[in-house]
Amino acid sequence: MNPRGFEPTRAALAAALRAVRPDAYAATRNRLDGAVTGLSPYITHGMLDAAWLLRWLRRRHRLPCGHKLVQELGWRAYFRHVRRWHGDAMLESLHAGPLPEHRYARRLPDDLLHGCTGVPVIDQAVRALYRDGWLHNHARLWLASYVVHLRKVHWRTGADWMLAHLLDGDLASNHLSWQWVAGTASSKPYLFDAANVALHAPRSWRSPGSVLDQSREALEALARSPIDVGPGPAGAAAVQIPALLAAPPASSDFGLPDASAVAGHRVWLMHPWCLRRPPRGRLVVAACAEEFHAAWPWSDARWRFVAAPIGRHAALRWHAPAAAIAAALRAAAQVETIDDTHLPRQWRTWARPAPSGFAEPDRPCRSFSAWWKLVQRQAEGAGDGAASPVSP
Ligand SMILES: Cc1cc2nc3c(=O)[nH]c(=O)nc-3n(C[C@H](O)[C@H](O)[C@H](O)COP(=O)(O)OP(=O)(O)OC[C@H]3O[C@@H](n4cnc5c(N)ncnc54)[C@H](O)[C@@H]3O)c2cc1C
Repeated sequence: MNPRGFEPTRAALAAALRAVRPDAYAATRNRLDGAVTGLSPYITHGMLDAAWLLRWLRRRHRLPCGHKLVQELGWRAYFRHVRRWHGDAMLESLHAGPLPEHRYARRLPDDLLHGCTGVPVIDQAVRALYRDGWLHNHARLWLASYVVHLRKVHWRTGADWMLAHLLDGDLASNHLSWQWVAGTASSKPYLFDAANVALHAPRSWRSPGSVLDQSREALEALARSPIDVGPGPAGAAAVQIPALLAAPPASSDFGLPDASAVAGHRVWLMHPWCLRRPPRGRLVVAACAEEFHAAWPWSDARWRFVAAPIGRHAALRWHAPAAAIAAALRAAAQVETIDDTHLPRQWRTWARPAPSGFAEPDRPCRSFSAWWKLVQRQAEGAGDGAASPVSP
């Protein structure tokens, strides 16, 4: 399902932008073979500015505020809004879900980790996640729903696992989507059935006769029961779990911070969420904060995605505790960077925020619909009358 390959180059990004077809997107977005853009790894890593993308889409394709693609970028901006107001509290359940927290396991079952649950849609999704580092939105929804509501694994455990294997893994979009599925950030759990899969996925994903082949009422009862349904009878062959690395691979040539190397220079600070082409006339320093990567290890494929633009642009590459990097950077005459919510606290003094393209309300909104109403009014003056979308 990933024909794109996600090369971390400007040429690949330009090709992905040229391929955007908003009309086809609106008509087919829910299908696994639909005309989705595949832009998420570039947006997550700051190779593509979300605000620029929104302006470009609206001008070039004359998209109204209510267009599906604009709304989906709105979901991304809304999740950032929630993260801004809740901070790391959004890593815990925002409110109670269908079952008490202690009813959910904190470990994923081996059959799921190895893609051999015996439920084709799940085994295919696990394979695609490991192989491509990317999943279609519907596949993410299905996988998360199965993990939480049928296998009784806590959403946080599932979210951490998925994030680690995604090229576009983003704490706000990922963890809040998992909460939305779990029903801890939404009014009800997200459930799906075999008919839903048959409508949107290729044949090999279809799951007739599996635990998903039940009525809505039966699936809702399962979601409210504390019992793990367990794997199906005949699982696919087990797949290997890609290794996760808590630091840049040795080949990417990161070293320790050195104040003397930046003393008196105008520095552009590149980091994993700011991989855009740096401005001219700056000493480019790439930095990875040790504590972040220890807490959130990444697949080798993601490290390679991040290391390639760094290798092209950065004269210096540092991997160390955020405070040690900040201490060395203080020797510079000037430091500039962009913060798209992941930046370590110690580096924020040098950062300007990455705008999402949507106005930031001055109060927290409890739902996407409430947030959308506010930002849409600001974006369109009186608004364009588009209905408020209800699901991500
Ligand atoms: C359980 C779960 C986990 C997710 N984890 C992530 C994640 O770690 N990182 C991430 O960027 N997105 C995440 N999403 C949202 C969405 O699935 C991906 O952004 C989308 O599938 C990326 O593919 P695309 O670029 O082709 O998206 P398109 O459909 O082409 O959309 C264009 C852009 O809009 C944004 N977008 C689209 N749909 C959503 C959405 N539902 N929520 C938030 N932003 C959206 C993304 O930036 C995306 O690149 C998650 C969704 C779910 C249900």
